Amino acid sequence: MTDGRTARRPDGRTRVWITTVALTSLVLAGCGGGGARVIALEGATLIDGAGGPPKTDMVVLIRDGRITAVARVNDVAIPRNAERISLVGKTIIPGLIDAHAHVERWAASRYLVWGVTTVRDLHGATDSALALKQDLNLGAVIGPRMFSAGAMIDGARPTYPNATGVGTAVEARRAVDQRAVAGVDYIKIYTKLTPELLRPLAEEAATLRLPIAAHLGRIDAVTAARAGVVSLEHMSGVVQAASGNRAAYARAHASFLQGWTAEEQGWAALDSAAVARTARTLAATRVAIVPTLVVHEMLSRLDNPVLLSRPGMEDVPHNAASVRSVPSLLRRTGWRTPQFEAFRRSRRRQDQFVREFKRAGGAIVAGSDAANQLLIPGYSLHEEMALLVEAGLTPLEAITAATRRGAQLLRADSLGLLTPGKVADLIVLNANPASNITATRNIAWVMSRGRIIRPDSVRATWR
Ligand SMILES: [Zn+2]
Repeated sequence: MTDGRTARRPDGRTRVWITTVALTSLVLAGCGGGGARVIALEGATLIDGAGGPPKTDMVVLIRDGRITAVARVNDVAIPRNAERISLVGKTIIPGLIDAHAHVERWAASRYLVWGVTTVRDLHGATDSALALKQDLNLGAVIGPRMFSAGAMIDGARPTYPNATGVGTAVEARRAVDQRAVAGVDYIKIYTKLTPELLRPLAEEAATLRLPIAAHLGRIDAVTAARAGVVSLEHMSGVVQAASGNRAAYARAHASFLQGWTAEEQGWAALDSAAVARTARTLAATRVAIVPTLVVHEMLSRLDNPVLLSRPGMEDVPHNAASVRSVPSLLRRTGWRTPQFEAFRRSRRRQDQFVREFKRAGGAIVAGSDAANQLLIPGYSLHEEMALLVEAGLTPLEAITAATRRGAQLLRADSLGLLTPGKVADLIVLNANPASNITATRNIAWVMSRGRIIRPDSVRATWR
């Protein structure tokens, strides 16, 4: 298999490929647990991802990468050939799903050491994103299971050169068709797409059964939700809908940076009744929100250099420009103290929106937007869960947002839940996060597809 693959790769990448395969086998071999067909995890507290209270003294049986039984200790027979692992004092939660990711190759193993076993990739050049997806899903590269949108669809004159810009209905339909043929899992639309083009695009996507994830700009959230988009990324389009001044925001979004700045500041100017009303209207459409509070939080503190050396940053390579390029973002945006002060005021309104949306029964899904500026692959999803709790979710609801809700958004029923029949993606924690959400970062080890991953063994391969 390696030979066949090697032959098809350009010279420069051959060595990288072989090294990756060798590394993968080394790490998995060194982890233990991979050889046994049946694994019994005994005595842990279990949080299953469905939102119910933690259950104590549980056994989880795993066979060939799938969960076969979940029961109280002594309520299930442990097969004689099972590898038995005592987890008394530990807590098990489902493997995490990062519902808003931009996955880069270097980041793949970073996700895994932080317990993120699935990622919902939302933009990259289509070919390289789908190649990485294939490598990850076949196990050739160590990392999370990956779903991908390929490159996003933007309005005419797209902000990113590797996005597809569409200016007519025909182009919008064609862009969707091309992605369906390439094999994407869903469509991502971007800020410059206009309301007139959303309709044909959504029709084509519905015909091809591709859900639409939306980072809106010129389209407001209510219009997009009623047209059938499944998720509002970053809660985009909400300010447009709640402000009563859609036209001004639509104009600002003709330029990416202007639109971004206006929207990020716009939250601060919203009144609380309009936020509550918009949250109820949107929840009634069944659209999900992926708030990425961690993005809004980082933007509001982009002027604080301490964030570049906070815990978790030691996992980010020094040449990882996407995470570390804060000075260039500051130069490009021209953001100064008045903007940062407005962004910080906006944070309170964003949290209120999350609370109201939850109260109205809306689905909240956790995503990080890593590896964008200051966002750490894997680690920032834990920061997102903590911010969701600050906004008003319970720790168990935040865990559900980062597990079951992500699986539902991906329409991947065998993920995000620890019940019989589901894939054995899980995290063993040294502490119980039900009372303190930061315990999700206190990871003993991770299981991906039934194989035990020791974070230290993986980290050792980075040096
Ligand atoms: Zn993004």
